[in-house]
Amino acid sequence: MIYEDFAIFTPGPVKMSEEILAIGAKQTPYFRNDKFSEVTFNCEKGLLKMLNAPKGSKVIFLTASGTAGMESVVMNLLTDEDKALVINGGGFGGRFVDICKTHKIPHTDFKVQHTNLSDIATLAPNESFTSLIVNAHETSVGHLYDLNALGSYAKKNDLFFIVDAISMFVTDPIDMCAQNIDTVIISSQKGLALPPGLTMVVLAPRALEKVQDINSLYFNFKDYLHNGERGQTPYTPAVTIMLQLEARLMQIERDGGVKQSITLAKEIAAYFRENITPLPLKPYTAYMPNAMTTLTPTDGKSAIDIVRDLENDYKVMVCPNGGDQRDMIFRVSHMGAMSKAYTDLLIDALYDYYGMQRA
Ligand SMILES: *Cc1c(COP(=O)(O)O)cnc(C)c1O
Repeated sequence: MIYEDFAIFTPGPVKMSEEILAIGAKQTPYFRNDKFSEVTFNCEKGLLKMLNAPKGSKVIFLTASGTAGMESVVMNLLTDEDKALVINGGGFGGRFVDICKTHKIPHTDFKVQHTNLSDIATLAPNESFTSLIVNAHETSVGHLYDLNALGSYAKKNDLFFIVDAISMFVTDPIDMCAQNIDTVIISSQKGLALPPGLTMVVLAPRALEKVQDINSLYFNFKDYLHNGERGQTPYTPAVTIMLQLEARLMQIERDGGVKQSITLAKEIAAYFRENITPLPLKPYTAYMPNAMTTLTPTDGKSAIDIVRDLENDYKVMVCPNGGDQRDMIFRVSHMGAMSKAYTDLLIDALYDYYGMQRA
């Protein structure tokens, strides 16, 4: 297996637990029956609880990567009569802009930098919008937006609020009721620490009302909602990943619930950041999520070289950036089956790499 004996700090796929890996090693069962419907219902119930979703919310399970969740939400819930305010602070925000363009949804590309939008009310373009779209954690740079502020702004302006929570669910707080969120997109391979291939779209009642007839067979939400009533999907789901999801949600509950999962991620992130302060690396943004740390070398070294050397010389995987950022920053994920001892593998590798003694 490639990279099997590597320490994993990439922001998706992330380090998976032994319990979840063991399920992946088993025979995939047949699924058009009550036993599997029960699995689907358990997954739906668990996710809705962890998101504090409003009563009557539903979950759609797509066998696809996260981008399909983003695109299908725009396709099913927005029309050419909408005007979407798309927060664009990096690659994933840019992807929502591209999706709106592709589906001819009127939108404003709201480019942001160096702000978590706590003051969105003053920063937002002074126009009227019908919806607000954000990637709660802009994973391309490791930047977390203020969902409380965005939710208040959405409520005050009666905006339909779509949140891509893919890279912050179970590591950073999100609350659909408190933050007036109408739709949430989640994917298997980030904080949920499952293999890639399963994406969940969570629809609050306000979103359910907005679901329309669309020109797509595979991404037709009405079809998923209809099948979902009996715990099924229109087409073959990622059966094994759903079994892993069911187990993972139970694992989170067993370990103290989603609050505890967030606390743990916060502790691990703080541990990493504190322990590397003597090194010539500085945080890229002031608004870091618990999920990830983005670092800039301060000694003139190229970020991409550090990523390569960690991989080749220490068997440690961190994540490079592309384009003009490839020399400037690299990313370290704290998502998944993390512990301080596991994080030490990276910290110790970095100290050795710089020829420095860890205090
Ligand atoms: C990973 C990620 C996605 C999904 O990307 P896919 O490669 O399509 O799975 C979407 N949004 C954010 C914020 C992400 O971090």
